Amino acid sequence: MKVGILGTGLMGAPMALQLQKAGFEVTAWNRSPEKLQSLKQAGITTVTRAADVIAACDLTITMLSDAAAIQAAVFAQPAVLQDRTLLQMGTIAPGESRDLSQLVQAAGGAYLESPVLGSIPQVKSGSLILMVGATPEQYEQWRPVLQCFGPEPQLMGPVGTAAATKLAMNQLIGTLTAAFSMSLALVQREGLDLQKFMGIVQGSALYAPTFDKKLDRMCDRNFTHPNFPTKHLLKDMNLFVKAAQGQGIDATVAEGVSQLVEKTLAQGLADADYSAIYNTINPEEPLTGT
Ligand code: NAP
Repeated sequence: MKVGILGTGLMGAPMALQLQKAGFEVTAWNRSPEKLQSLKQAGITTVTRAADVIAACDLTITMLSDAAAIQAAVFAQPAVLQDRTLLQMGTIAPGESRDLSQLVQAAGGAYLESPVLGSIPQVKSGSLILMVGATPEQYEQWRPVLQCFGPEPQLMGPVGTAAATKLAMNQLIGTLTAAFSMSLALVQREGLDLQKFMGIVQGSALYAPTFDKKLDRMCDRNFTHPNFPTKHLLKDMNLFVKAAQGQGIDATVAEGVSQLVEKTLAQGLADADYSAIYNTINPEEPLTGT
C-alpha cells in the first residue's frame, strides 16, 4: 500500500519513518524542503508538491500545524483528491475537521481523522494513543496504517468526535502544567524541601505523571529540544476555548492559561518546550519582592 505524508516537522518526520518500518511505500512532502533531506537519505520518496503525494498514494496523512496549513497543502490542486483518502492526524477543531471532510468529499475523495496523544518518543516506539473519527468501514480499512503508530486506535464516532476528544485532552496539558507550575513556584519561593513536597504530591489523589516529567525542566529552566512546542499549546488552548464557548461552557480557566502561554511566546519561547510557561508563572526576576 502506498501511504503519503504531508508535513515532516517534529511529528511528521518520525511518523514517515515509522510507516516505512511497517513496510508501507512512503512518499513525503514538506513546505520547507530541507526537512525532507534525512527522510530522502533513509530511502523515502520525497516530492516538491503536495498534490504529487495525494496523486501517488492510496492514503495521504496530514501532520501539519493547523487547519489553514492543511487547506493550503491539500487544496492547491483539488482534482487530485478524486478517489483518494485523506487521514488528518494533526490537532484541529471539530468544526474545522468536519469542514475539511466536506471539502474533500466535494472533490471526490474520502476523509477521516485520527489526532494523537503522545509525542516523538511514542511515535518512535509505536505507542501513540490514537483517537479516530471515521465510519466503522473506514476504521477497518485503514486500521493497519493506524496501528503502526499505536496498538489500539479508538474509534470515537464520526468525523469531529476524535478532534473534540483531542481538545478535551490537550486543554489538560495546559491547565495541569500551569497548575503544577504555580505550586512549584510557591514551594521554591518559600524555600520548602522539594523532595518532601513531591513525595506528598505523588502520594496524593492530586498527582499526575506529567508533574514528574516536567519537574527537572522547570527547576533547571531548561526548555530546549522540545517534543511539543509552546506555540502549538497556544493553538490548542485557543481551539479549546472556542469549541467550549460554542457549547456554552465557561472556559475562563482555559482563557487564563491561554494568556499565560501568550506571555511565554512574547518572551521568545514559541519554539521552546511548553513547560516554559513556568518561566511566566515564576519569573527569574520576581514580579514582586520575596
Ligand atoms: P511542527 O514541527 O511545527 O510542524 C508543523 C508542520 O506544518 C511543518 O511541516 C510545517 O512546514 C507545516 N506548515 C505550517 N504552516 C504551513 C502552511 N501554511 N503550509 C504548509 N505547511 C505548513 O509541528 P508538529 O509538532 O510536528 O505538530 C504537527 C501537528 O500535530 C500539530 O497540529 C500539533 O498540534 C499536533 N501534535 C503535535 C504533537 C507533538 O508532541 N509535537 C503531539 C500531538 C499532536 P515547515 O516545515 O515548512 O514550517
